[in-house]
Amino acid sequence: MINLEFDAIEKSYDTGLPVIRDLSLDIKRNEFCVIVGPSGCGKSTLLRLVAGLEDITGGELRLDGKRINELPPGKRDVAMVFQSYALFPHMTVYDNIAFGLRLLKTQTAVLDAKVRAAAQTLQLSELLQRHPRDLSGGQRQRVAIARAIVREPSLFLFDEPLSNLDAALRVKTRFELAKLHRQFEQAATLYVTHDQVEAMTLADKIVLLHTGADIQTYGSVAQVGAPLDLYHRPASRFVASFIGSPGMNFLPARLEQQNGEQWTVRLDTGELLALAAHKLSPTHASSNHASPNHTPQVGQFLTLGIRPEHVYLSAQESRTGDQLCLTRELSWQERLGDSSSLYFEHQNDLLIVKTHSTVSVGQRLPLYLDGLHLHVFDRAGRCISNG
Ligand code: ADP
Ligand code: MG
Repeated sequence: MINLEFDAIEKSYDTGLPVIRDLSLDIKRNEFCVIVGPSGCGKSTLLRLVAGLEDITGGELRLDGKRINELPPGKRDVAMVFQSYALFPHMTVYDNIAFGLRLLKTQTAVLDAKVRAAAQTLQLSELLQRHPRDLSGGQRQRVAIARAIVREPSLFLFDEPLSNLDAALRVKTRFELAKLHRQFEQAATLYVTHDQVEAMTLADKIVLLHTGADIQTYGSVAQVGAPLDLYHRPASRFVASFIGSPGMNFLPARLEQQNGEQWTVRLDTGELLALAAHKLSPTHASSNHASPNHTPQVGQFLTLGIRPEHVYLSAQESRTGDQLCLTRELSWQERLGDSSSLYFEHQNDLLIVKTHSTVSVGQRLPLYLDGLHLHVFDRAGRCISNG
């Protein structure tokens, strides 16, 4: 069942340029939806529209089928957690958690039971009489989360709640948020982050917003889908570069020849690669991206995309044999323990390879690109084939 519906939502501030443009999106009950995108793309704005902290300038926002555009924040059945925690410094942990319930004039006994239950869930039972200044960052954020869950809203809004935590605590709190979400079967979660790892690990559904750099795509959705959908079938070069770390490698090229089933692609560095024709046939990329399916013409500029884990150092590893092989000198490597990241120069860019093999800087190595995982993008950055 659908909980929250964005119907052609627009938002512009006084500057006139839309921050959110024509956003249509459904979020179901019990769905964990993550809005992700680079800084400044409009994520916080989107949450503030839902919370009622900003006016919507176009379209309709519905919660459980009812229009809420004009509903004041206090009347919306939503609870929001901010990056900055936004706790009341003069109140104890108990009073901070109880604040929303007191506003709703909840009976004292009921209020007390709810506060203690939330405190227990978030391991705050021992800290109820402390003030925020006597808590660590992680504890403060747990208080902010407890304050949201006691309200039992039908929608949770999180704005980069883990950004101020150190790396280990971020992973632990991420896990706790995922557990909490599963406990609240009736509620949906709308979670905002600039961190694609958080998006990949938490989301049932990811909504990736474009950066504001390109006026054509400003404030619009780049792709909506399940995490692995975006990873394996990116609709555009922007999506491919944003999702995954280290990022996808991009190799500029041109379609040189079409010979029956064989297509020849020449990289800008000169190498010729043979691709099976079906590789360049209309894409099966799942997306809401406006992508007219067309077969590229001979001479057309293309970008080949391949993830670091799909470039191999030996032909045996490569499932497509040796037709997609480059030779490069190893410039640098990062040993991560479980694997290594190898850095090769490719024109003015880097080609990154993830490997378990032991190699040395300065060695010339063959690089086999796995044709089954090769992505092809057209000049405009639209994906025309995903492996
Ligand atoms: P994000 O959370 O993705 O980093 P924001 O939603 O905070 O992005 O901001 C999106 C864009 O809207 C930015 O270009 C920002 O400068 C602009 N913006 C945000 N708030 C206001 C405001 N109150 N007035 C004018 N412009 C704003
Ligand atoms: Mg923000």
